[in-house]
Amino acid sequence: MFPLTEENKLVAHLLLSSGTCPRCIFRFCGVDFHAPYKLPYKELLSDLQKFLESGKDELVLEVPNPPPKKIRLQELEDGVDNLIRNGEGNISYIEDGSIASKNSNFSVCNVCLGILQEFCEKEFIMKVCQKVEASGFEFNNLVFSVSFPPQLSVREHAAWLLVKQEMGKQSLSLGRTDIVQLKEAYKWITHPLFSEELGVPIDGKSLFEVSVVFAHPETVEDCHFLGTICPDCFKPAKNKQSVFTRMAVMKALNKITEEDFRKQFPCPPESPKTMCTVLEIECAHGAVFVAGRYNKYSRNLPQTPWIIDGERKLESSVEELISDHLLTVFKAERRPFAIELVNPHRIHFTSQEIKELQQKINKSSDKIQVRDLQLVTREAIGHMKEGEEEKTKTYSALIWTNRPIQKKDTEFLNDIKDLKIDQKTPLRVLHRRPLAVRTRVIHSMEAHYMDEHHFRLYLKTQAGTYIKEFVHGDFGRTKPNIGSLMNVTADILELDVESVDVDWPPALDD
Ligand SMILES: [Zn+2]
Repeated sequence: MFPLTEENKLVAHLLLSSGTCPRCIFRFCGVDFHAPYKLPYKELLSDLQKFLESGKDELVLEVPNPPPKKIRLQELEDGVDNLIRNGEGNISYIEDGSIASKNSNFSVCNVCLGILQEFCEKEFIMKVCQKVEASGFEFNNLVFSVSFPPQLSVREHAAWLLVKQEMGKQSLSLGRTDIVQLKEAYKWITHPLFSEELGVPIDGKSLFEVSVVFAHPETVEDCHFLGTICPDCFKPAKNKQSVFTRMAVMKALNKITEEDFRKQFPCPPESPKTMCTVLEIECAHGAVFVAGRYNKYSRNLPQTPWIIDGERKLESSVEELISDHLLTVFKAERRPFAIELVNPHRIHFTSQEIKELQQKINKSSDKIQVRDLQLVTREAIGHMKEGEEEKTKTYSALIWTNRPIQKKDTEFLNDIKDLKIDQKTPLRVLHRRPLAVRTRVIHSMEAHYMDEHHFRLYLKTQAGTYIKEFVHGDFGRTKPNIGSLMNVTADILELDVESVDVDWPPALDD
């Protein structure tokens, strides 16, 4: 059913004769159900023509004020003829992705600049879908985002003022929110076409995003008068090529008075010669996360690359070894890891394939071993971080004492359980952590006597305990400490993390 009613007729006529497309006419008439927008353009034009033709006589009679002028009917006919004639115009796709009209007479909508004409028809959607297919991404659903040229907002504003004025003559009002947004209408038309063509649903939460950016060079200057009138709205920003962003333009349009706007910009907006161009069609996939557990064989290998002021301090890191397929390492340490894979094209893996990937990593080096490799969610990464905070850690420390000791001097340590210690922020980390006193718990210790000046201490502690400081005391900043407990000066020669007791990621049976 044709969606416009008798009371829309004057507005429809006015817009059509000024060069506005049928879908934009629907929008300004507040048509808020989807079906009419989805009809093919040609059909819409002929339906609109029939609708306006059918009421021609009534139209003349019904206009109370001002009295209709003959010229308006002529304009109406011209408008319809013009759009129908040009509706036949074919577009062609240029290799760089832009669209050009084969027909130089093609009448581009003066409000949407072609967005609700060729750019929502099946031919264009197919072209975007071909790009998506060619991108090689795997996806189960997608988000489709579009970016329209900012001057569309200016033209929309002009058309709104025009229609508002026309409706005012009929004692009707038109708020901005009564108009269906261009983006909404575009969505209504294109989303079902995408879904059908790609065979997946459109889902705002999807990690896979297809974005199309439109530009319209011919009318770029539409926005410029706003810069003179509302200079405050247009501040240069980083990463922005132009100050005339959509947001800034919207802000200025909210500020400018109707009178000022009309002085500076034609209502209705002038008909453009060209359609929008497609600046880019891009596909991107949100990160996926692979987690597992690994054994580390080197004390001097940091978890992540250690770079200070742009300078690399250590040759490698666990992260790099696992992600780069592993190189040089020593001695064991077990802990969970997770790797963020940015913009992955492939995301579907069977558990068998992940198992094979794990085997491949493990075979590539005998110095690092990975297990429980699996795909996890971003949320699960949070569990790992929490776990690191809350769970206990097990360490092995090689300790030196300044005065000779015997085995019995260390044995009392084995009997200490859940020892509370107060740690002032260590001197070595004061430059990056605030000064504070934190209480930590040493759950248990086990001393292995080595010689008169050395013993190995295994410690199970609350995560976040500064072990080195617990051993040497950090000039009395950690109390008590091994030195004070044993009444010696103690120092730490080696420290290894034996394990982090976190139940994550879930163990897999291999
Ligand atoms: Zn339009």
